[in-house]
Amino acid sequence: MSRAGAMETALGGLVVAALPIFVSMPWWAIPLVVLGGVLMLAFAAHLRWAEPESAADSARLESEGIAVRARIAEAEDLPDVGVLHRIALDVRADGLNPFEATHVCSNAVCQDAVARHRRGQPASLPVLVSPAAGEWMVSHRRV
Ligand SMILES: [Zn+2]
Repeated sequence: MSRAGAMETALGGLVVAALPIFVSMPWWAIPLVVLGGVLMLAFAAHLRWAEPESAADSARLESEGIAVRARIAEAEDLPDVGVLHRIALDVRADGLNPFEATHVCSNAVCQDAVARHRRGQPASLPVLVSPAAGEWMVSHRRV
């Protein structure tokens, strides 16, 4: 099951389990519970996008993902051996709600893009997204 699908099933189960509690609650508690639910949904929406966890997931994303250019919104150096950057990406594609993703990387492709961004030039990175799996990744091979 995909990550997004599992999330929806878990949320659905939670709603069913909470119904008897909901009915027996005093009236003033209902707005609090609704507010809690809205916050949880906002949290779930935020968690929706993740980088693939295994090499197999990366390979699947590489072959099935939608290729988009993600603009660099921000880049900072991380103290480490060599050059490591934390890059905030603005990911937008047709038919997709835009989202922000963080890519921590020392790849030459990303270093070049960060250098362009710091010179004030438009800089973007090639990103693959799979809306069904809720996954995204920077594809260093597609420049
Ligand atoms: Zn990278």
